Amino acid sequence: MEKSNKAMFRVRIKFLLFIVVFVLAMFSFIYNTSPRQIAHATLITVEIAGMPILERASIFIDGDKFEQLTKTLDESDPFYVETQNKFRELKEETECSYLYAMAPKTEDVYFFIFDGEDPNSEDFSALGTEENVTEYDPAFFRTFGMKEPQYSKVMFDTKWGFLISAYKPILNSKGDIVGVIGVDFDGSRIMDTINAVNKDLFIYGAIFVVVGLVISFFLLNDITRQNKELLKMSRLAEDASRAKSDFLARMSHEIRTPLNAVIGLSELAHREFGTSKGLEYIVGIRNSGATLMTTINEILDFSKIESGHVPIHEAPFASASLVHDALTIIRVRIAEKPLDLILDIDPYIPKHMIGDVSRIRQVLINLLGNAVKYSEKGFVKFSFFGKKISDNSILLTMAVEDSGIGIRPEDLPEVFNAFTRADEFRNRAIEGTGLGLQISRTLCRAMGGDIVVESEYGKGSVFTATMVQSVDVWEPMGDAVSNPPMQSEKPYASFIAPDAKILVVDDFASNLVVAEGMLEPYELCVITVQSGKSALKLVQTGHFDLIFMDHMMPEMDGIEATIAIRALGGSFAELPIIALTANVLSGMGDMFLENGFNDFLAKPIETPKLDFILQKWVPREKQIFRD
Ligand code: ADP
Repeated sequence: MEKSNKAMFRVRIKFLLFIVVFVLAMFSFIYNTSPRQIAHATLITVEIAGMPILERASIFIDGDKFEQLTKTLDESDPFYVETQNKFRELKEETECSYLYAMAPKTEDVYFFIFDGEDPNSEDFSALGTEENVTEYDPAFFRTFGMKEPQYSKVMFDTKWGFLISAYKPILNSKGDIVGVIGVDFDGSRIMDTINAVNKDLFIYGAIFVVVGLVISFFLLNDITRQNKELLKMSRLAEDASRAKSDFLARMSHEIRTPLNAVIGLSELAHREFGTSKGLEYIVGIRNSGATLMTTINEILDFSKIESGHVPIHEAPFASASLVHDALTIIRVRIAEKPLDLILDIDPYIPKHMIGDVSRIRQVLINLLGNAVKYSEKGFVKFSFFGKKISDNSILLTMAVEDSGIGIRPEDLPEVFNAFTRADEFRNRAIEGTGLGLQISRTLCRAMGGDIVVESEYGKGSVFTATMVQSVDVWEPMGDAVSNPPMQSEKPYASFIAPDAKILVVDDFASNLVVAEGMLEPYELCVITVQSGKSALKLVQTGHFDLIFMDHMMPEMDGIEATIAIRALGGSFAELPIIALTANVLSGMGDMFLENGFNDFLAKPIETPKLDFILQKWVPREKQIFRD
């Protein structure tokens, strides 16, 4: 909301600025236009009307006689009488305001010689009337300097009103200038016209501004309303997406809890009755459980990726373990088909790298799994090599080639899209969500690489994944296939601790059986309860070294129980409590740590992770290591 209000405020400010700039530009245009209009009108007036009048007046005036008259100022001089009459007639005949001839007396004072006004009128200047010309139009003076006709460039505001004037010099027979003939026109009409036009422009401008403001008001209101609606819609979408995530979290819990029991119990049954007749069924149950778990994990991963979160957690790992673990899984699947597994693994890949090994393994298993899934016979070839790109990093390339069904060229760009399954009809019998490659590509890209595919329909495909990893130890990993790393060979407990007392809390009885079975190799003293309340009671009566606490339980859940145990104070503040959770959505780990748990373990429990957690939290002095 805040954001959209700020954006609207910015839009309004910008619009107002635009209006201000527009108004200023318009007024400056009007302001600049007036002088140009005036100069233009002046020029037309003098050229069309003024100059011909001056030409005609100059015909009457003999320069020498004029010079003489300026000296005598004799009103009875026939030249004066005759020319004065002609001046009058000419003035009346034309549209000019004043027509006159003047001669200089001093620099600032001139004599009127002829005047076109009616001698009976007040405006008439008789022969010899003196006139101070200091405030006259510069064109008047230019005429003397240049001995050429001149006219005013602008309209002059004089005591006779706005005047437009033109002047012509009077020359004697020697070519000296002895006077000037002037003609004036009334400029006020032109001024009035220009002012009226400008007034109109101002009015139109003002109307435009008002209309603009009204339109902007409605427009901005409209945009604001639309923004609010969009905001509402995006809120609804956010709510829907949150509801989807919540639903996924719930579903994940609901599905993973019984699945945990299915996988765990079949794992225990497998250990117990490894040679019995039912082994085949047990392996089937375990494999189906594992497949179902992969599907659930893919959906969860997709939902994390969709919400913009690409989960990459970096830590040191052994390259050989990565190869070995992935191959162990894939060998089980490949054994079901007449497929050869061809390996081309570069032994010079650094021994220890830093990255998210579980994500790299996920990508690898997706590619190898697809190769097996989509090939009926022939081979699956896995090539793995690295290229040093800096002092502490390497570009890993994993290429998986198969002799399977291949992908039609038109389907190639689609295989990385979520939910897309190429050649749907042909592949209908092959299980899959269509999410694996999209997740793998997103993960590779998050790790600085990518996945590309080449395929020939009917012949096979090559998927090549790349990713950048930091190198921890450059020493070569060696032959990862024939010399598998030690830690992969530890399916069971790495120590025993008969003196350690462990409490396992889970409302689902089968999960308690699984937990007990998984903990059995450690020879611990395991006590189980089915509710948070019972756990709270029990911890106060006996000394426990460690608690595994389920998260979601009716009545008092794992978090409430842990908070209550911590609230007991004393040694309970230190008692290691590990969250057992089927809810593996992102951010869950932090949530447990913030609520008083020491660590967390995802269900279904994986043996190496359980071993790691127990090594970390069972008191050291109680751990007895095997050879
Ligand atoms: P799925 O779960 O359907 O296998 P993926 O995202 O892993 O989903 O693969 C998307 C689609 O790409 C598959 O449905 C399949 O059509 C095609 N595909 C992937 N790998 C191969 C392969 N090795 N050979 C042929 N087609 C493949």
